[in-house]
Amino acid sequence: MSNSQPEAVQQHFEREVQGEARFDETLIFDPETGELVVQRRGEIRANPDAVTVDQPAREGFFANLSFAFLYEEQLQKVYQNWQVSGVDQIPAIAFTFDEGEVFHIYTSVPKTHFAGFPVPSTIKFLDRMPTIEESFSIVEEILRIFPNQHESQQVTVVVLLAIENERLQYRVFITQPDGNISEGIIKFIPQYSELYSRSTGLLETLVLEQCKVGIVGLGSGGSTVAVELAKAGVGNFVLIDFDRLELSNVARHVCGIGDLGRYKTKAVRDLLYGKNPYINVKIAELDINNSLEETKNLLKDCDLIVAATDNNRSRFNLNNIAIEYKITTIFGRALTRACGGDVLRVRPFHGPCLSCIFTKEFLETRKEEVSQFRQARDDNPAYVPDDEVKTTIQVGLASDIAPISNMIVKLALLELSRGRESGIQSLEEDCIADFYIWANRRENTYANWPKMEYGSKTPSVLRWYGAKWERNQSCEVCGNQLESIEADDNFFG
Ligand SMILES: [Zn+2]
Repeated sequence: MSNSQPEAVQQHFEREVQGEARFDETLIFDPETGELVVQRRGEIRANPDAVTVDQPAREGFFANLSFAFLYEEQLQKVYQNWQVSGVDQIPAIAFTFDEGEVFHIYTSVPKTHFAGFPVPSTIKFLDRMPTIEESFSIVEEILRIFPNQHESQQVTVVVLLAIENERLQYRVFITQPDGNISEGIIKFIPQYSELYSRSTGLLETLVLEQCKVGIVGLGSGGSTVAVELAKAGVGNFVLIDFDRLELSNVARHVCGIGDLGRYKTKAVRDLLYGKNPYINVKIAELDINNSLEETKNLLKDCDLIVAATDNNRSRFNLNNIAIEYKITTIFGRALTRACGGDVLRVRPFHGPCLSCIFTKEFLETRKEEVSQFRQARDDNPAYVPDDEVKTTIQVGLASDIAPISNMIVKLALLELSRGRESGIQSLEEDCIADFYIWANRRENTYANWPKMEYGSKTPSVLRWYGAKWERNQSCEVCGNQLESIEADDNFFG
């Protein structure tokens, strides 16, 4: 900038007040520094994100600045298309939030879940970035060509783009139905590398990016695990569940009212894309108990399986798959009204499997939570009417499921980075048990536990307990195979 700031800004305002505004200078706002700067005609903006603010500055406030977000990836595609086809104006759609404060502009359907109120948008490529006065006339001209769009909608968003000195120049304008046009600030949603570079350090994100995790059961537990693993950087998912999101699920599920009626697989997939649009998510709406072969095909090349289903038959089926394909599998569940829960890590032939631990008798003593009508219906004889069955559904709080999901996530990340240098490596020495027990309240199974006191000599609520459990050599699932620990030490190849 040619003038020293903020004197130049002060002088600019004074000239404005005296009606002596210079036509060759404009006031711009740099969102990076938060400063106002006077820019002379012909000067290239130091920061392309800087935006012309003469109008709002004259009105004395900045609260009406709008932000427009665009996917770098989508912009690249339309730019390439412009280069090839020469079509310099393309339609887009903008979703507006918070009375026009924020716009998300799309040129094609995004992988991420979108919300907001849709308004038309246009992207125009120019040979050079026009001055602010020229920009306003270009925007007005565009709106004249699309009068219907302008009249029938509340707001229109126009993006002007040009390449100058091999650098992308851009401006966005928001037009109101009354004809008022104001400039906004464009922000770009970056590509993968920038999105997830921040988690590097604690976890080896490059390793996790290669990993494939299968999650079976997307209730409040499984869906939370999926989202947390995506946030940690896991790059490939297989999601299996055959339920749709019902009103009664919403209070405890990661998905909300906006996803009612959708398959949980699809709703959760969209949430994962919202965290990272560059991951791969395969989904299947199937009941694994009725589609075992299909389930095997979906899961056989996973690095890890999370079993978060709500019935024992599916758990034993998943245990069989884990042993057959030697895939580490983490089983998690909540007990009656989420009074507590347990998490079992099965590392095939390196420790106990589900069948080594859970006998039918043992399962009887630890009644699982009944949170779905389908589950309750299965538990009751056919002559019991639906209304009565409904009264047997006893759900716990989402915050009582959270510790169990959290333990699954920790064990999953630990297993996925096992043997590699990472910030969580010391956990390998802590999590030596394969079976973990958690209690939220002193009821049911935990009714006779002593109250939580100082110290940790007695079992109490709100603590994890690792239970030592040996592999059962005569287990009918994993016992009669002659695999040895040494022969298969490198788990994930
Ligand atoms: Zn076993």
